[in-house]
Amino acid sequence: MTSIADISILALKGQGIRGIIFDVDNTLTSHHATVLHPRVAEAFAVICSQFNSVIYSNCEPDRHEQLRRMFSIPIIEPGLKKPKAEGFARAQQLLNLPAHQIAMIGDRVMTDIFGGNRVGFYTILVDPLDTQEPKVLTWIRNVEKWRLKLAGFR
Ligand SMILES: [Mg+2]
Repeated sequence: MTSIADISILALKGQGIRGIIFDVDNTLTSHHATVLHPRVAEAFAVICSQFNSVIYSNCEPDRHEQLRRMFSIPIIEPGLKKPKAEGFARAQQLLNLPAHQIAMIGDRVMTDIFGGNRVGFYTILVDPLDTQEPKVLTWIRNVEKWRLKLAGFR
């Protein structure tokens, strides 16, 4: 799945999902950004209006404080790091739902997806939001190299 904007709410509901756990960095925001990424902001609002939702980000206390200011839904406490089971158990406790009714959405296989699968959640892997930028930077770098070559530099 490319991003949370591709999620079918009807399909998730149809398979019995009632609660959502969101990763933050590269799933809802650019890395360490303090605003939602424009590609997913509307989808995030819609999903939150349809499902009981929580935020789960592996982060330090200062980033956690930022997240508390950004989001009005519950956030898993810092220190409970994915993919350890404790944080997922905390999320399940906050959602107050059986594991099979919970979906974990994130961009990292080793933390979000592995951790969520291991405790019996449905998991949805999205592409990292930031991948657009390095491609552009690579292209710019290549153009710069080409211009240097034309100018007689190696
Ligand atoms: Mg992430």
